[in-house]
Amino acid sequence: MSIVDAKEMLLKATEEKYAVGAFNITNLIQMEAVVEAAVNKRAPLIIQTSVTPSKFLAPKVLVAIYKTLAESAPIPICLHLDHCIDVEYCKQCADAGYTNIMIDASKQVFKENIRQTKQVCDYCHGIGSISVEGELGTVSGVEDQVKVAEDEASLCDPKQALEFVDQTGIDIFAPAIGTAHGVYKTKNPKLDFNRLKEISELINGDEPKVPLVIHGGTGLQPDVVKKLVSLGGSKFNVSTELKHTLIDTTHDYISSHRDEYNPGKIDAAVKEGIINGIYYWIDILGCAGKA
Ligand SMILES: [Zn+2]
Repeated sequence: MSIVDAKEMLLKATEEKYAVGAFNITNLIQMEAVVEAAVNKRAPLIIQTSVTPSKFLAPKVLVAIYKTLAESAPIPICLHLDHCIDVEYCKQCADAGYTNIMIDASKQVFKENIRQTKQVCDYCHGIGSISVEGELGTVSGVEDQVKVAEDEASLCDPKQALEFVDQTGIDIFAPAIGTAHGVYKTKNPKLDFNRLKEISELINGDEPKVPLVIHGGTGLQPDVVKKLVSLGGSKFNVSTELKHTLIDTTHDYISSHRDEYNPGKIDAAVKEGIINGIYYWIDILGCAGKA
C-alpha cells in the first residue's frame, strides 16, 4: 500500500501547493531515519539514491530494504534513482523495483536529451507504474557522477521546456533555475524565480500535469524554499545535508568517545541527527500531515 510511484503523490502536492522532500541516502541507517521522520510527521516521502551508492549496495538489496520499510509504514514512500546518465542502468534499476527513475541527459544537446529521456520513459511506462524524471538546463556543482562547472551551467528555456515535456512523455520535470549541488558559496545564491513561475504556468497552468522538481536544496534559506514551493516546485531534493550529518555526527561521536567500541551508538547518533534534519525540511516544505 505504501509503495507508490512519484507522479500521483506529486500531482497532489502541486495542486495543494506544498512539496515532498526527496532525500538522498547512502546506507541503511539513513534510509531508516528518513522513513521514521516522515512517519512521525505523517508526510509523504521520496527516498533517493545516487548511482554510486546504488551500484555499491546493489539495486536489488536497496529495493528489498525499501519494500520492507515501506510496506509497514502508514505513509506513501517512493524509491527514486537520482541523476543517472546511463540509459541501461536506468532500465536495470526499473527492473529491480525502483519506483522512479531520473534520466539525466541534460549535458547532451536538446535533441539527444529528448531521445535518451524518451527511451527511459518508454521502457519504464512499458513495465508498469514507474515514473520518470527528466532535466533540462544544467544544475551547477557536483552530484555523484554529474559535474557541471558554474560557467557551463545553463538555465532552462521555458519554450523548450514545453517541447521537452511533450516529446519525452516524462512524469516529473527538473528545470534548471539557478540552484546548485553541494554547498552554496553565498547565503543568497542567484535563483531565477520568474523562470520557474513561467515554466510552472506553461506546463501546469490549467491543471497540474507534470510536477516540477527543485534540485540543490541543501543550504537554501527557509524563505527561499517556501517561495520556490509557492511558485510550483513540488519535489524538493536534499542530498549534501544528509552526507554532512552522517560524517560530522560520526566524527563528533568518535572524537568524544575515543575509547568506546560500540558501532550501534554511532548509528544511533547518526540516525537522531538525520531525523532532526528531516523534521526541519518536512516543516518548511509544508508536507507534514499530508500522507
Ligand atoms: Zn540534483
